Amino acid sequence: MKINLISDTVTKPTPQMLEAMMNAKVGDDVFKTDPTVNHLQDKIAALFGMEAALFFPSGTMANQTAIKIHTQPGDKLFCDKWAHVYNFEGGGAAFNSGVTCHLIDGERGMFSAKQLEEAVAGRADIHVPLSSLVAIENTTNKGGGACWDLNEIIKIKQLCTQHHLALHLDGARLFNALVAKGESPKQYGEVFDTISVCLSKGLGAPIGSLLLGTKKHIAQALRIRKLFGGAMRQVGYLAAAGIYALDHHVERLKIDHSRARKIGEALEKCHLIKNVEPIETNIVIFNIVDTISEEDFMALLAKENIHFISMGQGKLRMVTHLDFTEEMLEKVAYIINNL
Ligand SMILES: *Cc1c(COP(=O)(O)O)cnc(C)c1O
Repeated sequence: MKINLISDTVTKPTPQMLEAMMNAKVGDDVFKTDPTVNHLQDKIAALFGMEAALFFPSGTMANQTAIKIHTQPGDKLFCDKWAHVYNFEGGGAAFNSGVTCHLIDGERGMFSAKQLEEAVAGRADIHVPLSSLVAIENTTNKGGGACWDLNEIIKIKQLCTQHHLALHLDGARLFNALVAKGESPKQYGEVFDTISVCLSKGLGAPIGSLLLGTKKHIAQALRIRKLFGGAMRQVGYLAAAGIYALDHHVERLKIDHSRARKIGEALEKCHLIKNVEPIETNIVIFNIVDTISEEDFMALLAKENIHFISMGQGKLRMVTHLDFTEEMLEKVAYIINNL
């Protein structure tokens, strides 16, 4: 039994999801005639109470499109120093949009309204880039699946309004945050100008992300998605997986969260572990003691067919997901208890 805790992107479609994909009605989405894509876009826009949505092959392309529609070359965007849009999208903000990132030194990938206020308050003469966008990430990836406080986000929105800044949410794992905090998509739809969400992480679809915004944003996004090479044809087969995931795989994220906590409890007790970071959703980040190397620790578990990744600097990461079962959890806990 191979146990893959590398990421929540490793899942394969369930038989029911595959059946939904096989039965999808499709058309050419570049001509906007794929009924399943149209249905997915309308469904998620309604879910968030936002005007429109657009289907993307990846979360990276959805985020990069959002940056492109909110900025002009030479502008600057504010984000946390750990933000995916800055660290893990290949330098896309600079490459695609000619934008500089002003990094904020937050906690676990999250900054406060006060920190943003200080960042925005700098000089504003011709020497400095124009500020146009704030991007936040919920849950935070490098921050170990941490969830933002919605009240802080609302304060950030007020600052954005005051300073004429657009506000984008990288919501690759937003559904994990919603389920963990008992919040609704509409509460987020009200606050953000644009939101990206991934179907291919905890929701278990093989591919796909959506960008949400106003009709005007989405009209611009349609043009930019084409320019980025992301306009697709009979893509309803993939949208059908997303519809299935939204209908069946959101509430169950709670199970992933509780399994992540149980892994955390086992790790806490293990003599090779220095500390485990707080576990709010499906990501477990922990540090090992200095007497064992990352490679050796990972090899100990790989021998038992348990796989996960290193994030560098002694930090290791395990992520729970749809294909990580109760039986696997029991084995992981047993192995860790007996290291
Ligand atoms: C995974 C992820 C994305 C998008 O990734 P893709 O692999 O391009 O779909 C964006 N932001 C965060 C925080 C992520 O974890």
